[in-house]
Amino acid sequence: MPTTVPALVAASAGASFERSTIQRRDVGAHDVQIDIAFAGICHSDIHQAREEWGKAIFPMVPGHEIAGVVTEVGSEVTKHKVGDRVGIGCFVDSCRECENCLAGEEQFCVKGNVPTYNGREYTGEETYGGYSKQIVANENYVLSIPEGIALDEAAPLLCAGITTYSPLKHWGTGPGTKVAVVGMGGLGHMAVKIAHAMGAEVTVISQTLSKQEDGLKLGADHYYASSDPSTFDELKSSFDLIINTISADMDIDAYARTLRLNGTMVFVGLPENPQSFRAGSLIMGRRSLAGSNIGGIRETQEMLDFCAEHHIGAEIETISADQVDEAYERVVASKVRYRFVIDTATI
Ligand SMILES: [Zn+2]
Ligand SMILES: [Zn+2]
Repeated sequence: MPTTVPALVAASAGASFERSTIQRRDVGAHDVQIDIAFAGICHSDIHQAREEWGKAIFPMVPGHEIAGVVTEVGSEVTKHKVGDRVGIGCFVDSCRECENCLAGEEQFCVKGNVPTYNGREYTGEETYGGYSKQIVANENYVLSIPEGIALDEAAPLLCAGITTYSPLKHWGTGPGTKVAVVGMGGLGHMAVKIAHAMGAEVTVISQTLSKQEDGLKLGADHYYASSDPSTFDELKSSFDLIINTISADMDIDAYARTLRLNGTMVFVGLPENPQSFRAGSLIMGRRSLAGSNIGGIRETQEMLDFCAEHHIGAEIETISADQVDEAYERVVASKVRYRFVIDTATI
């Protein structure tokens, strides 16, 4: 028998969240049942709950930054046991046989992976995310949260953490490299912490200097305002890598020119509008523009272990189920420092 589980539900696009219930499937042989303790609020939750990214599935229970404790395991489960601290990120299954899945890059599953919410299992059933008290998922898509990170501070790592860790790692961040983080929000503050822990020299470029003190405290070495016209002249040919977390229209040429020879600017934010740039900004310096999307399961575990080792969690503001609508407004207005986490005990 499926289990009835309390959840925060948006009945339709843009609707406010109401306490309701959803059905979770039986714990299958390879499944893990998790009591969710905390669920982070990612900006993409808002885009989907408001149906800003195309047709969405309602009723919707968002949430793909999930941290909790295992309460039951199926008969064949070997990776997790009852009482383990675990997490779930942006997807709960993938085809397991395409070249990307076999390479451990399930986020790029050719068949399309199964999103944690606003998606469908391969059987056709809708998926529901972390704004709920319990979830059931295949053990291979469940991460271990090491001792050393509190569950509330760990939850945002499952999206914001891996979204920034993966490109930092892929493009060789380490001692001697210079990294710029554009935007100082949920993603940006994680990029600063992780790049600093990897040993890079870190520069934040934010709209204003209002978060400068935080940025320097979290590990940035330098902090610039993009609204200051002298910033881009000063930073010409400075960086090996730019992690661009903003999702607004931007002057790509101005940022590209801050890259050193062979430098790369990686998009992890998703602007609504098409963006343009001059080829010359790339040609002069053999620069690259690139994109990156979360990370595979193996790399997500590596990120959690790295964060535990370096005592890195997200900077969070914990809220109750009643505050989610208000929290959405504050995320949209960039008025959160730096991630909201829902205490699911309040659902
Ligand atoms: Zn996310
Ligand atoms: Zn696949």
